[in-house]
Amino acid sequence: MRAHLLNSGSDTPGAETMPVHVPVMTAEVLAALNPQRGGVYLDCTVGLGGHARVLLEAGASRVIGIDRDPAALAHAAGTLAEFGDRVELVHADYREATRVLDGRHLDVVDGVLADLGVSSMQLDGPGRGFSFQRDEALDMRMDTSQGPTAADLLARVDEHDLADVIYAYGEERRSRAVARAIVAVRATSPIQTTGQLASIVRRVVGRSGRIDPATRTFQAIRVWVNEELTGLDAFLRSLTRRLAVGARFAVITFHSLEDRPVKHTFRALAHEDEQFRLVTKKSITPGDDETRLNPRARSARLRAIERVG
Ligand code: SAH
Repeated sequence: MRAHLLNSGSDTPGAETMPVHVPVMTAEVLAALNPQRGGVYLDCTVGLGGHARVLLEAGASRVIGIDRDPAALAHAAGTLAEFGDRVELVHADYREATRVLDGRHLDVVDGVLADLGVSSMQLDGPGRGFSFQRDEALDMRMDTSQGPTAADLLARVDEHDLADVIYAYGEERRSRAVARAIVAVRATSPIQTTGQLASIVRRVVGRSGRIDPATRTFQAIRVWVNEELTGLDAFLRSLTRRLAVGARFAVITFHSLEDRPVKHTFRALAHEDEQFRLVTKKSITPGDDETRLNPRARSARLRAIERVG
């Protein structure tokens, strides 16, 4: 499995007290979105506000920042406070982004950014249940205000469905055995902590190489809990139609399961509608300098589409 999955551990000193999340590919994002001309930008995944800050500093007049994680928004409110009413933070799922624009009477915007996946604060931070590096409640929700936790879902999922999830979202070859072991343990005691889940998976999947054998299953369950791959195509299509002429939509992904739908949808849009042009025929990846400094950037890929007419 790819190296970015190692991210479930913290190699950031001080991450316990001060959430650190270095925005990836900032130069490439600026080159794609061109905020120097001003205008209204939609950041679909504002997170800790890193990219939003870069856009505002480069000249964006206004940024609307969406995130489904209330803790991320609270943090972004602090880090972006100096920009005053040039920033508006909205607690929403980005799949509802067109409604967020409707509510503000914005037919079109001058650029859209989506930096998909989880932030370092979510992965590494305490109390979120994303990481097998610490033993805590098995939550894994990005939006902690609603929906079932990983523990809730594991308590009731059918064994075959669970195996499918672990195979499809984690590319775990031992998915059937892992699902069987989870269901066997749960018959006697509920699985409520990251430590319990990790030890079940490690018992079934032997270690090979550097990667913790629990990595793939943890990724799969995280994607499942947050429905990360659901509705991506509709999301991309609906927001592409809200670009002003000359505006671009840039998307950063961190694994092929996410990159594939972005690639296909953008290609299809450019092919079927002459209003749209692919800015990136191939995905753009970060330079060596960046990946050396920020390991999270290793698997990042950026794709962008532009509205030309
Ligand atoms: N670009 C940000 C970091 C983004 S990390 C920065 O520079 O700080 C990805 C963020 O996307 C996380 O905060 C996560 O909560 C959010 N997210 C993931 N899926 C989402 C969804 N469906 N709707 C809204 N936000 C989502």
